[in-house]
Amino acid sequence: MILRFLPGTPEEQVQQVRERLISEGCRVHRSGEGARAILAAVDPPAEALLKELASRPDVERVERPRYPEVLASAAFRDAPSVVRLGQVEIGRSTPSPVLIAGPCGVESAEQVGESARFAAAAGAGVLRGGAYKPRSSPYAFQGLGVEGLRLLKRAGQSVGLPVVTEILDADQLPAFLEHGIDCAQVGARNMQNTSLLKAIARSGLPVLLKRGLAATLEEWLLAAEYLLAHGTTELILCERGIRTFETATRFTLDLTILPVLAERTHLPIAVDPSHAAGKAHLVPALARAAVAAGADALAIEMHPRPVEARSDGPQALLPGELMQLAGEARALGAIVR
Ligand code: PEP
Ligand code: MN
Repeated sequence: MILRFLPGTPEEQVQQVRERLISEGCRVHRSGEGARAILAAVDPPAEALLKELASRPDVERVERPRYPEVLASAAFRDAPSVVRLGQVEIGRSTPSPVLIAGPCGVESAEQVGESARFAAAAGAGVLRGGAYKPRSSPYAFQGLGVEGLRLLKRAGQSVGLPVVTEILDADQLPAFLEHGIDCAQVGARNMQNTSLLKAIARSGLPVLLKRGLAATLEEWLLAAEYLLAHGTTELILCERGIRTFETATRFTLDLTILPVLAERTHLPIAVDPSHAAGKAHLVPALARAAVAAGADALAIEMHPRPVEARSDGPQALLPGELMQLAGEARALGAIVR
């Protein structure tokens, strides 16, 4: 149940209702921002209590969510949420989509340092790079681990950008915190790893939650709900392509989901066309389409020398290509946002 107070309702009254719901055995969350208080009771209260609360003069509306997610639902916020990573804001209200750019994997100080300089020059707001890589083959490059976290953070700091990197296991959390990682990426293969989601949520780290390879919208939003229910306050969703019958591309980028998400959730939405396409020359067209469809951020893989990349080289843009794409995304953003 989601209960919206009238704007300006005194805090004591909000607390009174909150305590009432708790005394009836409901777990209650409060929406933090804005002049309007919103409470969500994730255990549906009894009908009589709902009626009583709905008739209060300080309550504007009591809604039963139409879908199983509550904290991720658009109704739980007065306005779409904005996630802040370092100085960068990601959300529907930004004038252009934020570019999250960098290599698939952190390979060396030189490679990630060069990538950071190119990403910053292209106007990126966030530097990406994997230190722990979830590779299909156990014989493929698995990432540099803790050393990768250190190099990524140092590269980000050298150009003033926050960093996002994938977490594969809860036991990596202390290193993420120790190295000042700004945002933990939950990869497609881990979207439904609920114990990992809970552990990350408890750490307080901002999260970029990728859509699972075969996850429905509802499964994805419920994965987001796990994070929000366990303490995450800064959360971005990322569409990265799903598995379909189509084999011409690595995955099928599902842009249809963007306007659906914009209706159903307050969470910012990123799109990663690189992993969907699997081929660099397809990335710009998909990225432009994503901006037109409402993406709040674009996650793009690039590499100073894609032929030398230890993972995902074929889909990595060259620095010049990233620069051009960034300009197009800004121009399109100015038209559609
Ligand atoms: C990545 O971002 O490098 C990655 C492995 O992404 P995904 O989980 O979407 O495959
Ligand atoms: Mn990759």
